Amino acid sequence: MKTAITLTDADAERFWAQVFIRTHKECWEYSGKIDKNGRARFNVNGRTIMAHRIAFLLEYEWMPSGEILRTCHNKTCVNPHHMSLGKNNNEVATNS
Ligand SMILES: [Zn+2]
Repeated sequence: MKTAITLTDADAERFWAQVFIRTHKECWEYSGKIDKNGRARFNVNGRTIMAHRIAFLLEYEWMPSGEILRTCHNKTCVNPHHMSLGKNNNEVATNS
């Protein structure tokens, strides 16, 4: 069963420390863990979550159940302003 992700302030700080934050228009490159498919990942509470989902959660304070698409198609970008929601998104638990 999927459970909601809860991030502490320390988690949020650890996450943003790995992001090159620029203007809203530019891509925010993630300097943390990148998996073999080139996707940015973040470890929290023993789980590995897609880094852009963490950015979305921190910016908008909810985690969509479905896909979060990147309008910039940059796999390592975690700029919340470059994201749009795919289908079937409800405000529930996260998938990782
Ligand atoms: Zn981007």
